[in-house]
Amino acid sequence: MPPVSLDMAPLLAVVAQYWGFPGLRPLQDRAIRAVLARRDSVVVLPTGGGKSLCYQAPAVAGQEPTIVVSPLIALMKDQVDGLTRNGICAIRFDSSQTPQERAATDQILARGAARLIFVSPERIATNDVHRIVRATNCRTFAIDEAHCISHWGHDFRPEYRQLGRLKELFPGANVHAYTATATPQVREDIARQLNLDNPEFHVGNFDRPNLTYRIIPRTDLGSQVREVMARHRNQGGIIYCLRRKDVDDLAASLQRDGYRVAAYHAGMSAAARGQAQDAFVSEAVDVVVATVAFGMGIDRPDVRFVVHAALPKSIEHYQQETGRAGRDGLPSECVLLYSGADVMVLRSIIEKSALENGADPTYVTTALAQLNQLTSYARGAVCRHRALVQHFGQEYDRDDCAACDLCLKETLEVPDSTIIAQKILSCVARVQERFGIGHILSVLRGENTEMVRKYRHDQLSTFRLLSDISKTDLRDWVYQLLGQDALSQSDEEFPVLRLNATSWQVMKGERSVRLISRPKRSRKKSERAASTHYAAAEGVDTGLFERLRGLRRECAQEQKVPPYIIFSDAVLQQMARLRPRDLRAMRQVPGVGDAKLSAYGALFLQAITEYLQEYAEPDHPASPPPPPSRSDRKRLAHKLFHTGTAIPDVMGETGLARSTIVEYLTEWIQQEAPASVATWVSDEIYVEVAAAARELGDAKLKPICDLLNQQVSYDQIRIVLAHLKATNARSR
Ligand code: ADP
Repeated sequence: MPPVSLDMAPLLAVVAQYWGFPGLRPLQDRAIRAVLARRDSVVVLPTGGGKSLCYQAPAVAGQEPTIVVSPLIALMKDQVDGLTRNGICAIRFDSSQTPQERAATDQILARGAARLIFVSPERIATNDVHRIVRATNCRTFAIDEAHCISHWGHDFRPEYRQLGRLKELFPGANVHAYTATATPQVREDIARQLNLDNPEFHVGNFDRPNLTYRIIPRTDLGSQVREVMARHRNQGGIIYCLRRKDVDDLAASLQRDGYRVAAYHAGMSAAARGQAQDAFVSEAVDVVVATVAFGMGIDRPDVRFVVHAALPKSIEHYQQETGRAGRDGLPSECVLLYSGADVMVLRSIIEKSALENGADPTYVTTALAQLNQLTSYARGAVCRHRALVQHFGQEYDRDDCAACDLCLKETLEVPDSTIIAQKILSCVARVQERFGIGHILSVLRGENTEMVRKYRHDQLSTFRLLSDISKTDLRDWVYQLLGQDALSQSDEEFPVLRLNATSWQVMKGERSVRLISRPKRSRKKSERAASTHYAAAEGVDTGLFERLRGLRRECAQEQKVPPYIIFSDAVLQQMARLRPRDLRAMRQVPGVGDAKLSAYGALFLQAITEYLQEYAEPDHPASPPPPPSRSDRKRLAHKLFHTGTAIPDVMGETGLARSTIVEYLTEWIQQEAPASVATWVSDEIYVEVAAAARELGDAKLKPICDLLNQQVSYDQIRIVLAHLKATNARSR
């Protein structure tokens, strides 16, 4: 353990002065204590968790500078730019520097002014680093993106292996590794590969509560993508496609419709890729359509959505790629559009790449196993946050994340799921486990296909057994059964469906399954869903926020830096909420340190003052629109109930908490006694709750919930009880 007596006051003063942060996050505190105590450490924090401050702040507060190893020149540049703007002297040594730049860097080094020195991993064993160490007495090394040293990570880089020699090359060095990759295996491997000496491990919470996850079968990619984009007008987003051609097609079709998007994939020239990246970073385009080649090295923190147009390769990849959304902590959305066909494509990509790269035989087995885990995740019916966090070995202690398609009740539980599953499984048994998904669907739906005729499967008892179910739903359910391991698929080129031990338990009624379906929502409604939720945080004057974003963009263009280097969205939102009227108040905005205050304080203050004055002019209301009051929001909520808006949408439009909305909704139901409450509670659940209430003869929540085996939420019970009361009162 680091010494308890460590005086953190000087460090906290540095954090307040340079970063303008009022304090440290709990894990940052522990990670920084390890650095100050010169204990080797491995720090695992999700993207956006605040890793960089863990090595930057001690370097500024300490005696000698810190050497930071970073995998990409773009990342180094960004960090040096960001630090410089906070008034901190930082330099970098990399292969892209011109001789003049190098000479300037050398001079700063010689003066001993640099607090942080960034180097690329291949330079570690070169004279450069020896020179730096001699010149500065530096003994502290920070390894950014440390998972790049591990084969088990998702982004192994051979040049990182050289870092294993740090402890030997620089005796007495203390080394600190930072990563967002959560698997314990990678964590241990990092410590081993770096030869760390009895390191401290600091592992943060892997949940990203500001991300809303939606996993939806892909039915019409173009319109599904446009639906997401409509919720995020003028906001940054990334759309990941599997193949280069998909990128080109989708980007072209979006451009034709007038969207400001750029394409990015490894098949494009370096110049074209650089252009796309710059356009995204400088906000010249909002959205990049890309293969997974895009992302690492992009530090834009205000990415408001990430769409996967096809399945990613593994849960680790999914976590990494979706992690690029909402690094600034503001609400953001991750949508995965999947199809069974993706699995085939990914399999062939894995096999082809193994063949081309001569990978060792375990590669294919591991990659396929990871793909399987991912498909189970995607098709599972467990809260997305819970399943992700548990995959990384952590507990999830909330019942309702309120931020995934399942917990937001955007999906419905299919009544009689187990019976439907039994029908599907018996069909697989009847065709003797010799056919693929397509044919099973044809038989169950009673289609007159050539295969059905050829094998006389219209004679089977399972023919037409589920003829009333749409093909899309049925296919989705088969995949859900595969995802829950209640059904298996062979490894052949044309995989056939097979039964396993679980399938038999389901068929014998010894085990139940849960299937979900998605209510068809109108495009308008789903566009409206959350559109304001993502844009407007409570109390933020959105007009002012957009004005400040524009000003930031202008400054960034002028100074040739990415806008986020000036201020993040989170900082601008705070300005638009607090509306500071003088420099002292401006300095109180979290994220405005001394250097930023003197560089930009007056400019942003002026913009705020002008905005407020415009509103004071005669043809404007006397003051800018005040944040909506509680009674305004209640009125709006009632209006939305009238139009049958679902609870998550009401949350988005009003900014009210779920519990408050349920309270308003039950009140409204009792007042209005609407004919149906089906928007909020499905008919099946309504009937069950009503029956339970009648049986118990009392309208208490807990006994009803217990009687229904806790399968129904308290909110649903509250809504049904309110409706029963209202309709009984009317009929009397
Ligand atoms: P990571 O490197 O782990 O992805 P960053 O270092 O980019 O995370 O930090 C993520 C965001 O959190 C940034 O917007 C940063 O300004 C903010 N942040 C970091 N530490 C603090 C803190 N102690 N207080 C307030 N904001 C912080």
